[in-house]
Amino acid sequence: MAYLYLLGDAQNSMVKQQAISEPNDRIVALEQKVTDLTAANQQLRQALTDLQQAHQRLRSQLSRERLIDEIAQQIRQSLQLDAILNTAVTEVREFLDVDRVLVYRFRPDWSGIITFESIAPEATPTRYSAFEEPCFRQRYVEQYQAGRVRAIADIYTADIQECYRQLLETYQVRANLVVPILQGDNTLWGLLIAHHCRAPRQWDEFDTSLLQQLATQLGVAIRQSELYAQLQQQAITDALTQLANRRRFDQYLAEGWQQHQRRQAAIAILLLDIDFFKRYNDHYGHPQGDECLRQVSQALSQAAKRTVDLVARYGGEEFAIVLPDTDLAGAHEVATAMQAAIADLQLEHPESPFGQITLSCGVAACVPQTQDSSHCLVKAADQALYQAKASGRNCIVSAHSL
Ligand code: GH3
Ligand code: MG
Ligand code: MG
Repeated sequence: MAYLYLLGDAQNSMVKQQAISEPNDRIVALEQKVTDLTAANQQLRQALTDLQQAHQRLRSQLSRERLIDEIAQQIRQSLQLDAILNTAVTEVREFLDVDRVLVYRFRPDWSGIITFESIAPEATPTRYSAFEEPCFRQRYVEQYQAGRVRAIADIYTADIQECYRQLLETYQVRANLVVPILQGDNTLWGLLIAHHCRAPRQWDEFDTSLLQQLATQLGVAIRQSELYAQLQQQAITDALTQLANRRRFDQYLAEGWQQHQRRQAAIAILLLDIDFFKRYNDHYGHPQGDECLRQVSQALSQAAKRTVDLVARYGGEEFAIVLPDTDLAGAHEVATAMQAAIADLQLEHPESPFGQITLSCGVAACVPQTQDSSHCLVKAADQALYQAKASGRNCIVSAHSL
């Protein structure tokens, strides 16, 4: 009996033991599962974060490309460099969320001036400030010429020259990013600069490449607009004498005519023609004739004292001068000064009765009225010039009525 009891007891404890160890295993297994799931969850979270970051990167890359695209498009459509640079600095500042973006233009001696900027409301304006820092010139110009980008996360911890730090401090800059603006032939034109003033800033690859791509586009825009300006200049300049040409004269007179009509002010013109110039050419040859035209042109330009006076080569050996806000008497005075300037040149002309190069001049002036056009002024001056020729040359005739 006792044996049976004991046996029963032992059996009981085994059953009990089994009952205990079974849930334990399950707990361990469950715990393992929980651990695995937690790890998987973490991996998933990480993957999600990575995905979100990649998405964010893609989005900012997309908007950056859109920004560059917009500016590139503007550059193709516009030759107005001022407008392009203005838009570029404004949009880049907003995009990068910095306190100041500016365009710095080098002068031939590598000093320079800030030509455009966009600033946060609380930042100090720097436009038209000139940098004359010698250390800036010596140390950095060469690097920028090689296309190097400079990024300073914090001016107080960066390894920069003291003078440069002081320069940045003047403009409350804490961090800056500088990329060179190079023209087509790799000439260093200027710099595109982002300033962060409110705190240090770790510039990332996106900031840098945005500024670099923009600087490349700006380089194209600058080259393009300079070529355009050159072409425009050529279109209104006489190649031999570098004076304004006939087209420019017509344009300037037409504009002046309208303006003087509105203001009811007097405008005058002079038509000047070299006397016996055919004989001069015949005597000295055409190249010397050209040289004579250049010298006469220069003398006439110098004799025109006001910047608003336009001296043009009207054609051949004939010159035309627009004199805004000038009446007949005033214009006659200018004509006298022009003749004196040519006399001072003392250009020998053995085939002329005067022995030297002289001019005949027709003068006309009027207060433009609505019913007439600037052509009547030219016509009157031309007739006066004809009379000057007819009266023996080397003289001035004023047209008295239009
Ligand atoms: P006038 O006193 O009546 O004005 O006589 P002129 O000989 O000056 O006038 P004309 O119209 O008979 O001749 C003008 C000359 O100017 C003839 C032409 O060869 C010369 N000429 C016109 N353009 C140029 C130029 O670009 N270079 C040179 N060397 N000569 C020119
Ligand atoms: Mg002549
Ligand atoms: Mg002539």
